[in-house]
Amino acid sequence: MKSKVLVIDDVIKNLQLVGETLNSESVEVVASSNGENGYLLAKKHRPDLILLDVMMPNITGFEVCRQIKADKELVDIPVIFLTAKAETDDILEAFEVGAVDYITKPFFQKELISRVSSHLELTLKKEKLQSYVDIVDKYVLTSITDSEGVIKYASEAFLKRTGYTKEELYGNTHRVLKNNKFDKKVYKELKESLLKNNYWEGEILNIDKDGNDYWVSVVIDAQRSKTGELKGYQAIMEDITDKKMVEYLSITDNLTKIYNRRKIEYLLDYSIKQLPRDNNSLSVLLIDIDDFKLVNDTHGHEVGDDVLEKFSKIIKDSVRQNDLFGRWGGEEFVVVLPLTNQEGAFIVAEKIRTTLAQYKFPVVGIKTCSIGLYEIKIGDDIKNTISRADKAMYEAKKSGKNKTVVYKEELQ
Ligand code: GH3
Ligand code: MG
Ligand code: MG
Repeated sequence: MKSKVLVIDDVIKNLQLVGETLNSESVEVVASSNGENGYLLAKKHRPDLILLDVMMPNITGFEVCRQIKADKELVDIPVIFLTAKAETDDILEAFEVGAVDYITKPFFQKELISRVSSHLELTLKKEKLQSYVDIVDKYVLTSITDSEGVIKYASEAFLKRTGYTKEELYGNTHRVLKNNKFDKKVYKELKESLLKNNYWEGEILNIDKDGNDYWVSVVIDAQRSKTGELKGYQAIMEDITDKKMVEYLSITDNLTKIYNRRKIEYLLDYSIKQLPRDNNSLSVLLIDIDDFKLVNDTHGHEVGDDVLEKFSKIIKDSVRQNDLFGRWGGEEFVVVLPLTNQEGAFIVAEKIRTTLAQYKFPVVGIKTCSIGLYEIKIGDDIKNTISRADKAMYEAKKSGKNKTVVYKEELQ
């Protein structure tokens, strides 16, 4: 596509000369012999560049330039002044009213061509850059804050995801997006890392204006001046809500919302493999609800489901934060106890067992469980670990149920 150059000059000879010099395969020249008409032609043609004479009757080139620069639609068009030697004293004013360059008359044709083409090229580059900026704005979640964390810029994509308008977000901090369900430790770690490394990368759970949770993977960079002074922070985010959902579903038991077998198996396997390295104790509990079939048979599957859900909660409330637990299948659960030997594990097992035995379920009343306990030794693998915990659990069933049995060699 041809670039359009508008030339405004009251001397017709000059218009002709500029036309002859610039008209080519790549440039089309539009001419005007006075300021008023020149401004109208600028509105009509939206040229890529304007060559503007300074001294003209009625309105001067400076005045035309002011009008152009005050017009939102025209402000970005570069203006080059064509000035007679006598007017070069006014050059300062030319730049003040917004010119990018000036050429003195009479001009050399080569000079005119080279100046015009370098400014046209610059405009093209600017437009290309702007189109990249627009794409980023539209598709990339990004925000910029000052050194206090007050938002100064948010991309269109960021506004769309958060549901807030610029007016609502600018002047606020990211605190408006803070989700109470999210681990506060992460914010602390984020702050410390920005102070220490000028950088943080991680995942954050936010909340949008409509109250929906959403996850983002974030990279935050501190922006500093050359002298090291903190200017602000730039964040680039990716919406990973769907990914998080898939991840959650793949490790969670649908009914009880605790880890499923796949996840607890993975965690047990990992803990066993870490054992030689950590040289610590590690124990496992296999828990099976006693006579659970009876619950289903007497009261129906839904009541049985309710018992499983409530029992999961009992396990959760009976173990420490670092302990791991999940549903092994049916009415069986596995608890992995890091840094816990047989004696310690026995205490945890008995806590779970006695809490359950004292809990009164709606409809069903009292239920009990049998627990097999095994302290894992270096050299064990997940298969023999589960098999030993299972043998101990079976022994608990055989010897009357509602008890914890510690694995012994004799059970082999
Ligand atoms: P024991 O004391 O020997 O463990 O007997 P039990 O009845 O608890 O054991 P059994 O293995 O005979 O029965 C387990 C029952 O658990 C059978 C099955 O229908 C039920 N079950 C398994 N998964 C679910 C579930 O998701 N919901 C419900 N309601 N019941 C389940
Ligand atoms: Mg069972
Ligand atoms: Mg059972």
